[in-house]
Amino acid sequence: MAMKDLDEALEAIQSSPGGVLQSDLWKLLGIDSRKCSRIVKQLLDKGLIERVEQKKDGVKTFLLKAKRKVADASLLLAGEELAPCIGCDRECVVEECTLLVDWMYRLAIEEAKK
Ligand code: SF4
Repeated sequence: MAMKDLDEALEAIQSSPGGVLQSDLWKLLGIDSRKCSRIVKQLLDKGLIERVEQKKDGVKTFLLKAKRKVADASLLLAGEELAPCIGCDRECVVEECTLLVDWMYRLAIEEAKK
């Protein structure tokens, strides 16, 4: 199964917040339903989507929804220092913020240590 097929299917599912019916997905992607089933299985196995049984016009199908990614909190840290924007109540002018510049400097130092 080409990664491109998986990516396209995942994108189609992610771009619809309410989810996509599997019976519509293969039409959207211009592929046959068997290939679509294989793609859906791979996305399920990778934990990227979830599937809920539905009926459309009395026929069983599945609603496919993208799973939310868990945020990586480490991206907000420079060493042990939390990004200054978290909880900041200053009037924000990003280009002039010395707090942010200092934190980014610290981040660059921490990255250089790796
Ligand atoms: S850039 Fe500076 S002023 Fe703006 S939110 Fe972040 S810390 Fe606060």
